[in-house]
Amino acid sequence: MSKETIMRVAVVRELGEPLVVEERTLPVPSHGQVLVRLEASGLCHTDIHAAHGDWPVKPQPPFVPGHEGVGLITAVGSGVAADRIGRRVAVPWLHTACGHCEHCVSGWETLCLAQQNTGYSVDGCFGEYVLADADYVVAVPDGIDPLEAAPLTCAGVTTYKAVKVSGARSSDLVAVFGIGGLGHLALQYAKIAGATVVAVDVTEDKLAAAKQLGADVTVNARQVEPQREIQALGGADVVITTAADAAPLKSAFESLRRGGRLVLVGLPADNQMELPVFQTVLGGISVIGSIVGTRRDLAEVFELHAAGRTKVIYETRRLDDVNSAIEEVLTGRVTARLVFDLSDQCRAE
Ligand SMILES: [Zn+2]
Ligand SMILES: [Zn+2]
Repeated sequence: MSKETIMRVAVVRELGEPLVVEERTLPVPSHGQVLVRLEASGLCHTDIHAAHGDWPVKPQPPFVPGHEGVGLITAVGSGVAADRIGRRVAVPWLHTACGHCEHCVSGWETLCLAQQNTGYSVDGCFGEYVLADADYVVAVPDGIDPLEAAPLTCAGVTTYKAVKVSGARSSDLVAVFGIGGLGHLALQYAKIAGATVVAVDVTEDKLAAAKQLGADVTVNARQVEPQREIQALGGADVVITTAADAAPLKSAFESLRRGGRLVLVGLPADNQMELPVFQTVLGGISVIGSIVGTRRDLAEVFELHAAGRTKVIYETRRLDDVNSAIEEVLTGRVTARLVFDLSDQCRAE
């Protein structure tokens, strides 16, 4: 087969087993689809959960993970304007939705019960090409580096939406628990909303980065109790949690002031969180779950980045190193988002 008709993809053949990089025939876009030649593809923790089959609804192997894809449209199916070929787009978690249910028509397509998810229920972006729904890819403005656009496609839009639903405003104290791929962006969106921001983590490197990205206060949860520090500041109006273990969730709750909002973004492996009902009721506390963001949210994320208002911390890896990259994330060795560089010079011979 010629190089133009095959692509390399990283495949989960068995849940919990290492991924296998294999060659596949280049797919042909069907009605309403586009074929995207990927330039960059971010590694999100969700991809690892998918590959391990950690969640109650498990993906069906074999499948290709990845939902932070950015690349150029190289072919379109019927019903898709040919002039979209050559455009740069992002391929997010929301592969498609029904478009007409109450959620879809009210601006909450991310809650659609009929949605398909990239890299989970359909093949995703850990490869040289991906098929996507022409209506659900999001244009990446000129001037944004694909390697930066990739983490924005999930980590960016997820935290942007979390700040949006938190209702954070200029007089608020917003605490972000966990300054990794998600948290470093969350704190920037909270700053853009005008809030005073506290960054909480357990590693000094990440806290130093948070400070550089605009955090007003940093708290090392290994050295002090975050809730004490944050209550000393008056308590948080909003806490956004990307850290998902029991201990940070407890600290996060106890950091809230009365009337505060706890926005849950990270997903704990055991799916449990202790919620003291008495304090929640008497304190008028809101607990809010937030899942990714809509196409419009992602477009706004790109607008902010194109305007130079956000910074993305990332490191590149090769697709062939997918298993060691997953290992790096699981052991917490990397402080930044990992992005597979799929540009020409990084493609294997
Ligand atoms: Zn993700
Ligand atoms: Zn729908």
